[in-house]
Amino acid sequence: MQQCYVCGRKYQDDRALWRCECGGVLEHSWDGEGPVFDREQITRGPGSIYRYRGALPLAPGTEPVTLGEGMTPLLAGEWNGLRVRYKLDYLCPTGSFKDRGASLVMTWLKAAGVRAILEDSSGNAGASMAAYAAAAGIQCQIFIPAYASAGKAAQIAAYGAELVRVPGTREDTTRAALQAAESRLYASHNWVPWFLEGTKTAAFELWEQLGWQVPDVVVCPAGYGSFLLGLYKGFRELVSAGVAPRMPRLVAVQAANCAPLVQALEQGLQDVPAVQKQETMAEGISCSKPVRGAAQLEALRATGGTAVAVSEEEIRQALWTLARKGLYVEPTSAAAAAALDKLRAAGAVADGEEVVLCLTGTGLKATDKIAAMMAEA
Ligand SMILES: [Zn+2]
Repeated sequence: MQQCYVCGRKYQDDRALWRCECGGVLEHSWDGEGPVFDREQITRGPGSIYRYRGALPLAPGTEPVTLGEGMTPLLAGEWNGLRVRYKLDYLCPTGSFKDRGASLVMTWLKAAGVRAILEDSSGNAGASMAAYAAAAGIQCQIFIPAYASAGKAAQIAAYGAELVRVPGTREDTTRAALQAAESRLYASHNWVPWFLEGTKTAAFELWEQLGWQVPDVVVCPAGYGSFLLGLYKGFRELVSAGVAPRMPRLVAVQAANCAPLVQALEQGLQDVPAVQKQETMAEGISCSKPVRGAAQLEALRATGGTAVAVSEEEIRQALWTLARKGLYVEPTSAAAAAALDKLRAAGAVADGEEVVLCLTGTGLKATDKIAAMMAEA
């Protein structure tokens, strides 16, 4: 079922909603039997997130909308002398981890008989939702700010989505999308609970790839938190099912220029108030007020994790360091790497621990920006 994080109201799974009637965010929760993790079935399953079908809330017989997302490599390596494993989620079909969530969302929408949706994202999520809408045969409108780069718009348009350019700020784009949502479903990846049902498979994969063990620490970039919250949900399900002994510590990384989560955690708050954001090259985590802020704080506190802010210069340096290892990622992913040095200096990670660094988006989509950075250097 789908349940409101705010008021607790429940809705059936086949209702295509984007939020509760009270305005709160919805989460999926299991009624009756919980997720099933059968190792033999998993290893015999497809090389995609659907190998964990027993832990995905899909009615029997539901045909997945898939492009082969997930099962990304977990690469052993090191970061300035610290042993780490890089989770190469930028190798998903559209170049970002968002494909895990978009696949589940489109599978759910197609099964619910939805024919047309809209979404507002000029970044990785917009491209991902457009690709999976194409695979599902669902009409897709993507609202983007008029200032969004031509390259990003091109990928979305190539998948056949209708682009609606909105003048003004990013917030103006969301407002325009919400107005249009009177006539078709607002399938915002930040709101519909199915997105996290897809991103949680990253936790299952880490567990499988580490020989059915959980790591000690997982570090990922966080803005709206769809990767962080997916990890939290996935690891919790493994622990509840009795197949993993404990949770890893989850670490969220933000750009210092826009760090509402870091500030809320430091101040001991229960929710994340809006901050005045400054520009950051880590645009995938440039979010001044996350929809699921309270849930992100819970994920960090409940696992003994933390949140770290990194400067633009630190992000830039980390991007070069990764690239010189052969890992070409977008600045948002480089931010997560930049946090490792700080975590180590603060004693939040120790040598010998199993540390996973999540690289969530490809550098190929940020080549203009990376070329400009090289010209400046
Ligand atoms: Zn509610």
